[in-house]
Amino acid sequence: MPSSLTLDVLPSDPLLSLMAAFRMDERPDKVDLGVGVYRDEHGQTPIMRAVKRAEQELLISERTKVYEGPAGNQEFCEAIERLVFGSKRQSFENRTTTMTTPGGCGALFLALQLMKRSPQNARCWVSEPTWPNHIGMAQSLGLEIKTYRYAAGMTPVVHFEQMLDDLDAARAGDIIIVQGPCHNPTGIDLSPEQWVILADRLETKGVIPLIDIAYHGLGAGLDTDMDGVLAALDRLALACVSYSCSKNFGLYRERTGCLITICPNRSSHAAISSHLNDIARSCYSMPPAHGAAIVQTILSMNEFRKEWEIELSEMRGRISALRSNLALALTEVTGDRRFGAIEAQKGMFSQVPLNADHAAKLTADHAIYLPASGRINIAGMNADQVSQVAVQLGQALMDKS
Ligand code: PLP
Repeated sequence: MPSSLTLDVLPSDPLLSLMAAFRMDERPDKVDLGVGVYRDEHGQTPIMRAVKRAEQELLISERTKVYEGPAGNQEFCEAIERLVFGSKRQSFENRTTTMTTPGGCGALFLALQLMKRSPQNARCWVSEPTWPNHIGMAQSLGLEIKTYRYAAGMTPVVHFEQMLDDLDAARAGDIIIVQGPCHNPTGIDLSPEQWVILADRLETKGVIPLIDIAYHGLGAGLDTDMDGVLAALDRLALACVSYSCSKNFGLYRERTGCLITICPNRSSHAAISSHLNDIARSCYSMPPAHGAAIVQTILSMNEFRKEWEIELSEMRGRISALRSNLALALTEVTGDRRFGAIEAQKGMFSQVPLNADHAAKLTADHAIYLPASGRINIAGMNADQVSQVAVQLGQALMDKS
């Protein structure tokens, strides 16, 4: 009898479908507020100048394409540790084990697999709202999902008391995914003081944080963005950080990232490291090398690094100008001052109170693409499109109320 594989067709990924529909749309004034990639004033996601220069350098200097091993490029890992920990690096000396991974998502997957190996039957806590990928990955590993309240769209601050109340039910050995700077879909970040309180609470309960960092440098700046995360890490015996270079180095398709694990002591360091190597080996064997080599080159060469920091600050400046303009325009169109919160939020994302029907109508009638959740990528439009977007979003928001 011929072998067969009987599987049902899965529903398509809503965000990927939105991307495909946007590409097919021939209307000249179309705007993509859906996919989480940075776009410049021309609607392009360009290769950063520093990246191009590093690639040219690598073309000349690279001598081999031989395997690097499951942990990948260790010089890249050290460079990212220096970038993340900055002047506090010494406090973490000998406590970290860092693996190059296929993007930030590869790091998340590795960390969740690691937790899954613990005998404690870990559950995975995710914020409400979070990114679909967090839920998808945890579920695919058979981890039970628990949610904690985090923030609502049109406010500038986290609902911290509610967050802590929900986390009261977390158990020792559970994992909590917390988004790093400007990574929550609402654009709302924990303050450094809240990071400290959260870290103390998690440490007391024995809950393991997995901090997802994918927008380092796109909030307030490379150092300031890490203030809260570092204050928290300083107080935690065990923590994982998934780090993505997709957005801040514009290396999306190169799949560049790493998993930094902070370990409580030498024996756990050895055990954790051995498991991470084992998971990588049995999953993708070894991470891609090119993106990591680019980042390592940029961070190790003064001239390239300066250029990258300038480009990053241009991106940050553009996002923050778009935010201010959109907040102002939406407030004018709707007369609702709550939209002022968009200016105080950070990074590319904000969550406007629209549902799936409104999103579909905005797409059909005005070629404005956004997901059903109302989460918008502010960097998806250019300065000239802000008023058009504000009028259409504002109208949809007013029709709703
Ligand atoms: N974290 C989450 C939840 C994501 O959805 C993504 C991007 O899809 C990332 C991190 C970082 O992305 P990448 O895997 O492309 O580095």
